[in-house]
Amino acid sequence: MELDIELQPSDLVGCRYRAVQRHLFADRAPTEATVRRIERAEAGKARVLALLPDGPRPWDPPRFHRVHVDGAGDEAEFGTLEALAAQATIITGAVFTGVSGGRRWRSTPDVLIRDTEGRYLPVIVSNHRIARPEEGRRQRVIATSRLGLGTPSTAGYRLRHHAVDGYRLGLAARALAEFGLDSGRGAAIGQDRELAFLVDTGHYQAALSTALAAPLPDRPRRLKECGECRFWFDCGPRLTAADDISLLFPGDRGEPYRQRGIGTVAELIDADLGEPSALAAAWRERIPVLRRVGRVTARRFDVEIDIDVEAYLDQGAYLWGTYDGRDYRPFVTWGGLGTTAEADTFAEFWAWLNSVRDDARARGLGFAAFCYARHGENHWLSTSARRFAGHVSPAGHRVPPEAEISAFISSDEWVDVFAAVRSQLVGPRGLGLKTVAPQAGFTWAEADLDGEASVDLYRIAAGHTDAAPDEVIEARDRLLSYNGDDCRATSVVRAWLAAGAPGTPPLMG
Ligand code: SF4
Repeated sequence: MELDIELQPSDLVGCRYRAVQRHLFADRAPTEATVRRIERAEAGKARVLALLPDGPRPWDPPRFHRVHVDGAGDEAEFGTLEALAAQATIITGAVFTGVSGGRRWRSTPDVLIRDTEGRYLPVIVSNHRIARPEEGRRQRVIATSRLGLGTPSTAGYRLRHHAVDGYRLGLAARALAEFGLDSGRGAAIGQDRELAFLVDTGHYQAALSTALAAPLPDRPRRLKECGECRFWFDCGPRLTAADDISLLFPGDRGEPYRQRGIGTVAELIDADLGEPSALAAAWRERIPVLRRVGRVTARRFDVEIDIDVEAYLDQGAYLWGTYDGRDYRPFVTWGGLGTTAEADTFAEFWAWLNSVRDDARARGLGFAAFCYARHGENHWLSTSARRFAGHVSPAGHRVPPEAEISAFISSDEWVDVFAAVRSQLVGPRGLGLKTVAPQAGFTWAEADLDGEASVDLYRIAAGHTDAAPDEVIEARDRLLSYNGDDCRATSVVRAWLAAGAPGTPPLMG
């Protein structure tokens, strides 16, 4: 018989077995990465709560009542009902529980806002990028500081869908509907804490019902999120003992094989299916990278610059790292993102890159700049040019127009090393820089730092925490070391590819 477990919106995306494990191992402490993520979420929520209005301005209607619900469990639920009954304008800390299709659930919207008709909009605070500016779009928005007081306006944004955010809003709307207080609308506040994006919560109800009704699994299946999950101590050994195919192909990637009756790595090796079976054998033998081609190659240039950008969430790019084969040159700011400090840094970086390119051209030398998986670099090149258009740094360097960046991105002088790797190599654990560079003999000084940990470190480095001055300096040094090594690793991988990726066995026999 299935366990009677109270579900939260986060249980409805990603690993569904986590809810079962939470029930079985309720006392298991969260991992360090989870603690950091919770801290970031709490910091975002605290910022929003500070921005919410405390009372009306002289020109607003005088009736305004903001309530925070304290406590937990039944007490918090009761406090929520009292605040609703008191017709509070803004309610924070609300808690609802309910049952849908026989499944118990809990909803904790960050904020409830009473509308002019006496119904409520749930508001959630998310650390996702929930919207991007886009000309021609008409999205309803309202300043966080005017929630409960002002009326929304329209602005040019395109919303991005994140299932868990939709479930949070949908579940809160469902809870409000039980009291006849659902407005049919909700709002999401993303990394820009000052702006709330209005949505129709009815859009989420069908998917929410389906997700709530889905049965809970009776065993684990490896997913990307297992790496940071507190229950891996139990799931990992069970998956290994079962030789489960998700160890090789996490999530739904193993589904095509399961449908053919192949559920273990051994069965996939024996099935002799070509590349998947060869990958399974490589995984078993702990071979990280294989050659798809007879001879691996990479184009070399006279002047080569490896580039890696570091950004903090969606708020800005604080570090443009460059490596010319000899020196690492970082263009960095620890000042406020989105301010002139970031604009100056970007202008200096772009001026330096152009000077190197112009110098190479003037001397008749070939030039190229490289990165590993260019999605992030392209995003921040374009975004920085757009955000800081026309800005001139104190040194007299100009932020380029976006058209200049677009021309560079689409030119032969901007090369994605990951594309060259992916077309010639394959690996059972993917082809990330951290997997490929060690094959070329490179190791990071900051071996334990990854993208998520660097986000936490940036908060210390930029003075967003109450860390001591020497901790701030250490955080800055570690981020520079990490970024410098990413640049150097890209350079080393290129040289290794150009040498034919020595030591890499062929994919097939
Ligand atoms: S370790 Fe993986 S499979 Fe197990 S509960 Fe966590 S995310 Fe789910």
